[in-house]
Amino acid sequence: MRLDTRTTTDADAMYEALRARLADMVPDFELRHKAEVAAEVNRLKAERNAVVLGHNYMEAALFHSVCDYKGDSLQLSRLAAEAPGDPIVFCGVRFMAETAKILSPEKTVLLPTARGGCSLAESITGADVRRLRQKYPGVPVVTYVNTYADVKAETDVCCTSSNAVQVVESLESDQVIFLPDEFLALNVARETGKSITFPTLDPEMPQNGGDPNIHYDLVGWHGRCEVHEQFTTEDVVAVRRQFPDVMVLAHPECSPDVVEASDFVGSTSALIRSVQEADASRYLLLTECSMADNIVAENPDKEMVRLCSVRCPHMNQITLENVQNALLHNHYEVDVPEPARTRARASIERMLEISFGPR
Ligand code: SF4
Repeated sequence: MRLDTRTTTDADAMYEALRARLADMVPDFELRHKAEVAAEVNRLKAERNAVVLGHNYMEAALFHSVCDYKGDSLQLSRLAAEAPGDPIVFCGVRFMAETAKILSPEKTVLLPTARGGCSLAESITGADVRRLRQKYPGVPVVTYVNTYADVKAETDVCCTSSNAVQVVESLESDQVIFLPDEFLALNVARETGKSITFPTLDPEMPQNGGDPNIHYDLVGWHGRCEVHEQFTTEDVVAVRRQFPDVMVLAHPECSPDVVEASDFVGSTSALIRSVQEADASRYLLLTECSMADNIVAENPDKEMVRLCSVRCPHMNQITLENVQNALLHNHYEVDVPEPARTRARASIERMLEISFGPR
C-alpha cells in the first residue's frame, strides 16, 4: 500500500516516499533533512488537528509531503471554506490566507511567513476602488482574488484566472470594472471580444488613450504580476528555435502577446491538467518555476524546459521549516477585521456560486 505522506510521522518512510518522487531534482542529504521536518510537521498537525493547504507554486518537498489539499486559488478558496481542521496553515501568500480567514472566521489561519506579499495585491487599495466607482457609477466591479480584503470588500464579485471570463459574462452588464491585473483584463477582453480602457483617476493626467467620451466594455487597472510580466515573446521564440517540438503553456497573467505566442493558456490547475493530457516531447510553462518540478515529480515521463530565473519571491518564502514553526509558535496568525470581512465574503461567495452553483 502506498504511504500517505500527509499523515506519516515516520521520517524514514517519508524519506523513501520523497526519494521516489524527487531523487532526480533534490540532493539526497537535503531530502533526508526535509523528510525529518515533514514527519515532525505531520506529528504537530495531528496534535493540533491542523490542516495544511498548499498552492501549486510550493517547493517540491513541501508540495509532495504534508499538504492535505493542493490546488490553484479557486480550488483553495473553496477548500478553505470546507476543509476540516483548525488551525488552517496556508502555504501560499497573504491574500490567499486572508481568503481562508474570510471564509472560515471561526478558525485560526496561519501564514508561515510574516511577509508573503504579492505585486498584484499591492497595486490597489479599497480607496482606489471607491474612486473608480465614483467615476463609473452603477458599473459592477469584478476583482481578481489576488487582492487584499479591503479591496474585496468594495467588490461585487471576485474571480480567479480560471473563471474570469465566466464571471464577467455572468454579470450581463454592458460595462464591467475589472481589477487589478492589466494583463488578465487584456486577455479577458481578447477572449470575449470586449473593448477596454485603463483610465487614470488623476484629472490632471492624460487618459492613457482611453477617451472619456467613448463607451468601453471593460475598465481596467495597471496592476501586474512581477513574475508573469517578465516573460516575453522573444523568450518563446528562442525556446521554440532551440526546441522545435516544445509545447508552450502560459498563465493568463502573462501579456496578451505572450499568450498569443503560446499553445495553451490557463490557470495553474488547467496548465497541470493540460501537460498531463498532452503528448508533446517537452513543455515550457510560463509561470512560477516550482510548478514544473511538481509536475515532473508526479509525471516522470514529462520533460520540462525551465525559465527558472523568473521566480516569485513571495511564494518562495514558504518552506517546510517555516510550516513547522507555524505549528509550533502560531506563526503568523492572519486576521481580517469586520466589517471588511463580511463584505469581502459576499464577493467571494458570489464567485463560488457562479463557478460551482449555490452551496
Ligand atoms: S506569482 Fe505573481 S500573482 Fe502570484 S503571488 Fe507571486 S507576485 Fe503575486
